[in-house]
Amino acid sequence: MKDNQRIETRCLHAGYEPKNGEPRVLPIVQSTTYKYESSEAMAKLFDLEAEGYFYTRLQNPTNDMVAAKIAALEGGVAAVLTSSGQAASFYSVFNVAAAGDHVVASAAIYGGTFNLFSVTMKKLGIDFTFVSPDATREELDAAFKENTKAVFAETLSNPSLTVLDIEKFAAAAHAHGVPLIVDNTFPTPINCRPFEFGADIVTHSTTKYMDGHATSVGGVIVDSGNFDWTANDKFPGLTTPDDSYHGIVYTERFGKGAYITKAVAQLMRDLGSIPSPHNAFLLNLGLETLHLRVERHCQNAMRVAQFLEAHDKVSWVNYPGLPGNKYYDLAQKYMPHGTSGVISFGVKGGRAAATVFQDSLRLATIATHVADCRTCVLYPAGTTHRQLTDEQLIACGVPDDLLRLSVGIENVEDILEDLAQALEKC
Ligand SMILES: *Cc1c(COP(=O)(O)O)cnc(C)c1O
Repeated sequence: MKDNQRIETRCLHAGYEPKNGEPRVLPIVQSTTYKYESSEAMAKLFDLEAEGYFYTRLQNPTNDMVAAKIAALEGGVAAVLTSSGQAASFYSVFNVAAAGDHVVASAAIYGGTFNLFSVTMKKLGIDFTFVSPDATREELDAAFKENTKAVFAETLSNPSLTVLDIEKFAAAAHAHGVPLIVDNTFPTPINCRPFEFGADIVTHSTTKYMDGHATSVGGVIVDSGNFDWTANDKFPGLTTPDDSYHGIVYTERFGKGAYITKAVAQLMRDLGSIPSPHNAFLLNLGLETLHLRVERHCQNAMRVAQFLEAHDKVSWVNYPGLPGNKYYDLAQKYMPHGTSGVISFGVKGGRAAATVFQDSLRLATIATHVADCRTCVLYPAGTTHRQLTDEQLIACGVPDDLLRLSVGIENVEDILEDLAQALEKC
């Protein structure tokens, strides 16, 4: 790939460059296994002495080409696809932290990630301290411990839509000798390039805008190649011999590729959370138009946010692209071309009005999904959070009038007409 290509061109061309007579479109290599001519050739692969394919749980050409495209979009050196966004979040941390270790994480993260960290990874012996995304540098510093191995946050949080001060979080992580891992699902690399602001590792739920058509659950982990794992003794998994590969040392053998090579050769080998090559192919189709879709999502969402803000049945609107939003200035700095298509807002009249509104929509569909090309809506207090009391809803930042709207790429006039007729019924 040409290093100077712009991101729109990379969406189309990065990761796969066909040679003379080869298929123009990314081929689906739907094969679990690969043929070799000699025992020696295969033995070298098993020892990580030669590069090549031998079993799709470790590597597959289709998956690798799509991972390389996403690495190019983020400006990273290497990437690995995972079977879901949840798997990407898990492996990104588990690759550098083990039982007895500690991680600092923003409290403004996807509910599934919060549960993964606070319940499931805790059972594995990894402890998390959650900090406010608005924490001062002093508050951040106070969260670190001797055994802290990473900092994790979302660049634009789902569903609360807080914008991370990436430089502040990166500076704190680096001062304590650990990497900053960010989940960049909502802005995508079209709107935000976290490596340019000091983040070290980026993850995505590719299920969202990257796929964009709601066909395939998936995830990705991308390494900037910038973090020096050898600067201290916090990362023995990367800097000391791996007995399961005859004592190779990842940082010595693979340099800037150490982190992703370890994730593949060790974690995917042992835990096996890879996507099917067919899903990677569908993800690639989504990536080819990512730049066009994200731009339209943001244009439409801005019009919708302005419409809602001016509507007398709407009590509040949260969209970081709106002037006056708490995160407007950070959004202008880190995602100046737009944030995402996701808006949250409240309707006057609480649960009853929100339910009538949602049931009255004709174009927007009720769906437990965001970042789809089709407009969709979710009323958390009536669905995902319906077991909670009003007090509990407030405590977890989901007031009973909150509606989450994921603005699609339909003609915006049709979206606005749909919202207007539903608001009239409230
Ligand atoms: C959806 C989501 C995830 C989880 O991804 P899955 O692909 O559903 O496993 C993680 N982070 C964010 C920000 C998400 O929106």
